[in-house]
Amino acid sequence: MERHTTESGSIEVITGSMFSGKSEELIRRLRRARIARLKVQIFKPAIDDRYSEEHIVSHSEMRMESRLVTSANEILEAVEADTNVVGIDEGQFFDQDLVRVVDRLANLGKRVIVAGLDMDYLGRPFEPMPLLLAIAEDVTKTRAICMQCGGVASYTQRLIESHERVVVGATGSYEARCRGCFEPTAGVGEGSADYQAAHAEVAVEGD
Ligand SMILES: [Zn+2]
Repeated sequence: MERHTTESGSIEVITGSMFSGKSEELIRRLRRARIARLKVQIFKPAIDDRYSEEHIVSHSEMRMESRLVTSANEILEAVEADTNVVGIDEGQFFDQDLVRVVDRLANLGKRVIVAGLDMDYLGRPFEPMPLLLAIAEDVTKTRAICMQCGGVASYTQRLIESHERVVVGATGSYEARCRGCFEPTAGVGEGSADYQAAHAEVAVEGD
């Protein structure tokens, strides 16, 4: 473990389904840090161009300027020495490198806050978020309201037919659902790999 400053870094993860207020919570924490005159840098993956190229924006239109990056390593290169707080939105769109990068930044004394989906549209853990949850000092699970029954929702229901893991789309393509109302295989053929993946026990991947 390397310690370059006496300041203690940390990792916070904000995770949950779509429409659960992850980005809002991220923006809230980053704004508070700015009010305390801490230096904040914000990143998001270039894949997510839903709302704005240069901002992280919540569904309720809160926004904060951010830098688009195409890889986790780009974050490591871009974080400046005097930065106190690093915010990363849409963490699930990065590869496993994000885990190493976030850990490194925390060891350098930065407070790192990552927001992202915990599960994909089949209810499977969405890498690299599960690993980040494991190494984080603090985890917040945000929850939405089930758009079918009004209960507490933890799942993201895809409403359009697609077998792509990532469909960056309009709000109308997804809704928040509770465990009881979640239908991961809606629009997916029973014999398909997606169907089998959704009906398998949550797999523990090792190497
Ligand atoms: Zn429900």
